[in-house]
Amino acid sequence: MVQISIDEQKLDGYRTFDGFVEVKLPPMDANLTPFERESRRLTLINRILAEQRHIAWDHEFERHEGKNEFWHGAALIETNDGRFFLDSNAHLLNSPAIRNCAEALGATDAFQHRGYGTRIKRLYFMGGRADISHDLPLLPDEEGKRYTPCGSCLDVINKLSDDKTQITLFPANSGSWEILPYEPGKSMDQLAREQVYDTTVKELLPHLSVHRADAQGKIKETLRAAWDYIRDAEKWQALSRAEELHLLDKELPNLPAKEAMREINALMMQRMKKMYHDSEGEVTTGSVVVIRSDDGRYYIGTARSNPRTSDLHPAMDHAIQNMLDGDMLQHATDIFLMSCDFERFPNLFAKWKENPAQPVTVPMPDGDARERAKKVTSADAVPDMQGTVLSAKSANFHILLPNNVKDFDPDIHKVDFTLRDLLPHAYVNPRSLRANGNGGGARTH
Ligand SMILES: [Zn+2]
Repeated sequence: MVQISIDEQKLDGYRTFDGFVEVKLPPMDANLTPFERESRRLTLINRILAEQRHIAWDHEFERHEGKNEFWHGAALIETNDGRFFLDSNAHLLNSPAIRNCAEALGATDAFQHRGYGTRIKRLYFMGGRADISHDLPLLPDEEGKRYTPCGSCLDVINKLSDDKTQITLFPANSGSWEILPYEPGKSMDQLAREQVYDTTVKELLPHLSVHRADAQGKIKETLRAAWDYIRDAEKWQALSRAEELHLLDKELPNLPAKEAMREINALMMQRMKKMYHDSEGEVTTGSVVVIRSDDGRYYIGTARSNPRTSDLHPAMDHAIQNMLDGDMLQHATDIFLMSCDFERFPNLFAKWKENPAQPVTVPMPDGDARERAKKVTSADAVPDMQGTVLSAKSANFHILLPNNVKDFDPDIHKVDFTLRDLLPHAYVNPRSLRANGNGGGARTH
């Protein structure tokens, strides 16, 4: 068992008031080097994080007696105006799937107290698994592991970040460790046990924003054609459920890949068109997701929404649910995504006319959608932090731009990523459907 030694009294180094935490450094010897100063600061923050994690664990203990393993973290957010916001995870007893993460809570506190204009200067983060039924605030094999915030939290943090925002991952520990600063250039596996890992949102959640352009403006032409295709009611002909099932279940596994892509695209555009025509002016965006499972079957999910809400992950949830309804043991090998903002589409054409060189934005799955996809990808398919690919299997993402079905050209309308491109530090969530626990240096919770 890991010994947790936390002072009876609050730590001397900080105090809380109105949701803020003030971090006060102990008096320092003027002869200290910047490395030594940073080390002292991080050691203090390490105690704060471990203490907060422990306090929250005590609360969980009172409420959730008998609960087994669960993931538990603490986050301290430093804003660019010098404030600190401290939070830990909150779990709901009646719904193990619902957890408010420490990092997202801290980020929410920060903008509620300081306004949307505030930016996160640095996020300090410590995670690790606990077990109430065995009275373990930190499981012994968790000591020293550095967790990253999950995809959903990274998305929230990203919205409140600027280019300089730093994320500092602490090794899970009792709070008694002397912490060493990160040395730039070191990879996770080169770190000393007591060393933090400094990183960025961009490193943990890359490709949030992707643009495409071509010299001839062909992408824009084809998006215009796609829009004509979608709104052209005369050509509208709904596929019957039987036809869809035929497309999704029967023929595709045997077709050459490019042909399969064509069929999937046609089906997705049909669904997009249906959403537009069914909306009667109320729906402004539509998303379609098709998942291919490892037994060669295809499952479709759609979602439509009001303005300014992301609808890619409800569409993905829908497709995932269809897949799991078919067979709980299936894993996703390929995920096709398409999103179309019916409201903004027509205005974009006018904008593009003014500025033909402006690249086209590719609608990407957000952090939450990436996390969801991770949960239905085989655990073995996800490379760990050191890049060890544990199996040849891997989920591929194919992000399709809307298009006129007959002119579909994968080179123009399709952008491919792997799950590793989208969540490079991903590791299977211990709470996921496919929990499987052995691990590299960093894992998302
Ligand atoms: Zn999270």
